[in-house]
Amino acid sequence: MINITINGQTLAAKEGDTVFKTAREHGIPIPYLCFHPALKPSGTCRLCGVETGPDSGKKVVMLSCILKVKPGLEIRTESDRVTAHRQKAFDRLLSMAPNSVRIRELAEKFNVPVPPKPDGCIRCRLCVRVCNDIIGARAIAMVKTRTVTHVAPGDGDCIGCGSCANLCPTRFITVQDRGNVRTVSIGDQVLSRLPLERCSACGTRYATAQFITHVDGSTCDHGQTRQAHHLCPSCTKLMAGRRRTKK
Ligand code: SF4
Repeated sequence: MINITINGQTLAAKEGDTVFKTAREHGIPIPYLCFHPALKPSGTCRLCGVETGPDSGKKVVMLSCILKVKPGLEIRTESDRVTAHRQKAFDRLLSMAPNSVRIRELAEKFNVPVPPKPDGCIRCRLCVRVCNDIIGARAIAMVKTRTVTHVAPGDGDCIGCGSCANLCPTRFITVQDRGNVRTVSIGDQVLSRLPLERCSACGTRYATAQFITHVDGSTCDHGQTRQAHHLCPSCTKLMAGRRRTKK
């Protein structure tokens, strides 16, 4: 047996054992994912980094599953260097397995902050900006929780215009017209369900009453313009073509 120091505590270690095994035997927690007692350690996950030194003149982080004990070895399992090393290792693992509950729980146990689970939104805010700045409905907003900032329902009422979904680069926000109802959703959360009005020329259901009222109130009071608001896109084109032909 030899003596090594872990976190200022002098501990007995078997010659030939690794720092990882010794720490575990003494109940000192070190994160790991790729270790298995039946297999040779490989250091693949890189989570088990510990700080060594200062006997070699400088402190360095080494993988404890590979590092062998030697007399007088000084180890720290918690330090700024170890925290930075763990952060990198967790980030690398989550870039390969972003939805892994096991990795996320392990990071939480060791107080390592990790990026939120991908939900399909890239936080570009285009949806929020168009709804606030152009439509003026304020129906969606960026909401900050303890761990993440995400798109959520805002203070205003959605009018079902679909502008947010049209601009969304990842199709995270969607608009679905089924029967006479338009549904706007943020991911799998329904934001609004509104009935669709019929085109006054062909009878196709094409826009919500709230959207038509909004357009009526925000454009100039010209007869032809108002009439166009009550037409579906196809009939609007058709009427515009006829007007051009008459000239
Ligand atoms: S569909 Fe609703 S949330 Fe989206 S831009 Fe229009 S009013 Fe805003």
